[in-house]
Amino acid sequence: MRFDTVLMVDWSGGNDRGAKPVKDAIWVCRATGGVAEKPVYLRNRQVAEDWIVQTLSKLQAQGQRVLVGFDLCFAYPTGFATQLIGSEDTLALWDWFAARVTDSPQSNNRFDLAGEINAQFPGVGPFWFNGLQRDITHLPRKGTDRKDHGLPEKRAADIAIPGSFSPWQLAGAGAVGGQVIMGLPMLARLRQRFAGSLKVWPFEAPDAQIVLAETYFSTLPDLVTADAHPIRDAAQVAVYARAFSNMAPDVLADMMDVRPAPEGWVLGAGQVDTLHAALAPAPPPLRNDCFAMPQGAHWTPVDAALAHLKSHLRCVTGTQDCAIGEAAGRFLAQDAVAQRAHPPAPNSAVDGYGFAGPAAEGLNRYSLMADRSAAGAPFGGAVRKGHAIRILTGANLPKGVNTVVLQEDVQADAEAISFYGPLKKGANARDAGEDMQAGQVILTAGRKITPADVGMLAAAGIGRVTVRNRLRVGVLSTGDELRDPGDTASDGDIYDANRPMLAALFDQSGYHIIDLGRAPDDRTVLRDMLDHAATRCDVIITSGGASAGDEDHMSALLENTGSLALWRIAMKPGRPLAMGLWEGTPVFGLPGNPVAAMVCALIFASPALRVMAGGGWSAPQRNMLPAAFTKSKKDGRREYLRARITDGRVEVFPSEGSGRISGLSWATGLVELSDPAQTIHEGDLVPFLPFKSFDT
Ligand code: AMP
Ligand code: MG
Repeated sequence: MRFDTVLMVDWSGGNDRGAKPVKDAIWVCRATGGVAEKPVYLRNRQVAEDWIVQTLSKLQAQGQRVLVGFDLCFAYPTGFATQLIGSEDTLALWDWFAARVTDSPQSNNRFDLAGEINAQFPGVGPFWFNGLQRDITHLPRKGTDRKDHGLPEKRAADIAIPGSFSPWQLAGAGAVGGQVIMGLPMLARLRQRFAGSLKVWPFEAPDAQIVLAETYFSTLPDLVTADAHPIRDAAQVAVYARAFSNMAPDVLADMMDVRPAPEGWVLGAGQVDTLHAALAPAPPPLRNDCFAMPQGAHWTPVDAALAHLKSHLRCVTGTQDCAIGEAAGRFLAQDAVAQRAHPPAPNSAVDGYGFAGPAAEGLNRYSLMADRSAAGAPFGGAVRKGHAIRILTGANLPKGVNTVVLQEDVQADAEAISFYGPLKKGANARDAGEDMQAGQVILTAGRKITPADVGMLAAAGIGRVTVRNRLRVGVLSTGDELRDPGDTASDGDIYDANRPMLAALFDQSGYHIIDLGRAPDDRTVLRDMLDHAATRCDVIITSGGASAGDEDHMSALLENTGSLALWRIAMKPGRPLAMGLWEGTPVFGLPGNPVAAMVCALIFASPALRVMAGGGWSAPQRNMLPAAFTKSKKDGRREYLRARITDGRVEVFPSEGSGRISGLSWATGLVELSDPAQTIHEGDLVPFLPFKSFDT
């Protein structure tokens, strides 16, 4: 059950609360991958509904899956809907309310409507607490005035949550009844507006792009602290958005696996521990000076720049618990310890006959027992000396057996087997724990889990592991000349190649890509885009505008933060890299030129991102292969040539023009020519760095 974005909404039954953020108003918060954005204050229901519709439309257009949690009862206790609309169809009840509730920022009809509803029930009630001065027929002021209306006070889910209120109480401290009447019409309209791509859990299967669910924001009182936000309602939406967006997909799927009932259910009701676990804290942010390199008149050698990244960066992602089936491609956050030995007991490596070895040279004969030992059906008895037992691959060795003879080497009849020796003691048998011992660390933290690792973890009895949250990598292009492929473009325009290319590169590394779009060469717009990006990315990769010219706004903005490090690296292709932190989020400002952008992304960003994602530093493979080219280069800079292997020799792309993006596609890796001056002749060994080896 994977959602890209989680939206949490704290609803309200009151009137407009004014322009200044206050408590008991509507608050919403979005989160991705365990990190919440700043909670948003919405002064009244009309503004809030617009905001929700617009946000969902935007996320829908981006193809995101969204979970929207409302702290709002989605249903009433059993029997209510039947009396009112003739069936327990909760979603139809929403439409019933939508047709009857009138609402505006200053007034609404909730008390009168509650009175009209009460009139349709026997006795007095179920609704109570008239919050108005004037009396309303059928709406008692006190809960104790109610009688014989025939409905339960609470739903099953409310009973499971200590301290929750009944939806019949319309007003008074803590009451929820008012906001339910004023919320169901909004939910009904969302269903209509997003019909076809929205479902309501648990009344419908949560398999749509947008899923609405009822939540309850007072389950974690100890975690809703003022450091999330000084206003408690705001802190609540932030904490819950963080928790649900950080929850492993299988954990959330389990949480949503409830029987659909007309009363619905509250997501996470009674599962305090699961919510707590999803809130494991993220490590502290990077230091503001992490990219600051001693800058002199000289160009920085590639190795010095890499050494700086290696020593100044560290992991920035929190952790989550996940099933091993979800773990491939993720970084392990805690060592994995074998839960039991593999194999757990001595067993046979072949189909054959087991006995107590060794067997002497020449003809050996053993009496054959009538029993057999098979995988999953081991023989529980003992095999006496001079006897053999039929045994199959993977079957535990019975007591008295330490050696197995291959069935192909044996003459067997009902009474005995015979074969020619010698056969060493222990032949064709596996020792207990010969592969892995119980308690042994079989994978260490930082490992990127491979499909084979998943198999090994399973064999060692490990069903769940703690992994790093996916690194959220924002990708942004800058430049007035850029257009999206497919747009109409004049000769002066350039199609944005870097953004889809860099997004694909880092997507392949297993990161969560956030498309930040294109920024014009306009400092104010770029600043706003970076502000928004910093709230939802762990790292921002930009291209273009990184030098020190008039239109190099990326470096100029980073300069203003005081964290800019303009790296002038002695390499070709390359222009300066603009490194820095924006609101604490690291920014890699790559050159605009696509070839330079790709090479710098591979050489610098790739190992840096791996460290931030919780893996170790990794260097690409350097395979020494004979050159199929000749080339002279000058002293003092490293050169990377687009290259591929043909017939065991390394060819380079005929043009070194750094605008030739087709050469990147032609190539399968880079040739790296070290810093000193040199001449390469055909047949000289040169290091070839496969693209695939940059992040493994
Ligand atoms: P800049 O670093 O912004 O001066 O850009 C250097 C060169 O790269 C210019 O010719 C730009 O048009 C080109 N360029 C910048 N960004 C992109 C991009 N996203 N896709 C393709 N070309 C780009
Ligand atoms: Mg530019």
